[in-house]
Amino acid sequence: MSLLVVGSIALDSVATPFGETADEPGGSAVFFSAAGSILHPVQVVGVIGSDYPLAVLKGLERRGVDLSGVEQAQGESFRWRAKYSYDLSSRETLETRLGVFAQFRPKLPEKFRNARYAFLGNIDPELQLGVLDQVAHPALVACDTMNYWIQSKRDMLLELLRHIDLLMINDSEARELSGDWNIYRAAQWVLAHGPRMVVIKQGEHGALLVDGTSIFKAPAYPLQEVFDPTGAGDAFAGGFMAYLASTDDLSPPNLRRAMIYGAAMGSFAVEAFGVKGFDNVTPADVRARVRVFKELVHFDMDGEKSA
Ligand code: AMP
Repeated sequence: MSLLVVGSIALDSVATPFGETADEPGGSAVFFSAAGSILHPVQVVGVIGSDYPLAVLKGLERRGVDLSGVEQAQGESFRWRAKYSYDLSSRETLETRLGVFAQFRPKLPEKFRNARYAFLGNIDPELQLGVLDQVAHPALVACDTMNYWIQSKRDMLLELLRHIDLLMINDSEARELSGDWNIYRAAQWVLAHGPRMVVIKQGEHGALLVDGTSIFKAPAYPLQEVFDPTGAGDAFAGGFMAYLASTDDLSPPNLRRAMIYGAAMGSFAVEAFGVKGFDNVTPADVRARVRVFKELVHFDMDGEKSA
């Protein structure tokens, strides 16, 4: 069951209380595929400039990532600079330079057009729509975005919402998009604008899956060391979508399991700078964390016996 992602392929310069990076390979499509490819092959659509280090992409290729939808264009790669607060709970974007993404018009290779699962990673909503138009009959289309696009391309984003099944955003973005500070009301606002499901990522407080009838909460994995939260959301998306693609099952219980696989992947992302956290992660490592989640939230009602 093929899994497609479009998103940024970036050079990130990030400062956290534990250190700094400069031009570290990242971007939504890179974090997504580094995480997702541990569970399922991933097809990537995006663009890099003439200055992008190819070694990282080669590493992804060795892990089953199909990069035939990645174009190399003359010019500078997408660059993002950000600084985290002392407790890593918030970050400030210092600079976003679109570079070659400004002129990019995605054209999907023929073999990508039958993707059953599509993730429109954080990038210009116009490009997200451009990719969606080229996918024939997807079973599930999920989409992420960011304050940058909520502020600069709101109308296009609202148009996109009418064509997707699931919106995956973080809590501050959900508040900004809906204009409502209450996260549960913000989720309902999203559902009223097109998608039938919404995932709201809450950083160290986990993530919520909300649909028309239910709410499911996945906690964050209990880590004692966190170095760099960058990409945790995209890694979450990679785990969530790759689990769904590998099982090809969109039933409510399986969507809940996918949330936990997403949360497990997010935890690997934050343990190192850039995508290094995924270097040696195996499917067995992921399953081990998934098992920890089961223990973390399991309890019996008064008077009920444990199964
Ligand atoms: P996350 O921490 O999951 O929100 O993802 C951070 C990643 O998103 C970084 O690798 C950035 O390069 C990328 N990014 C930041 N701003 C944008 C933007 N406006 N559009 C696309 N990608 C972005």
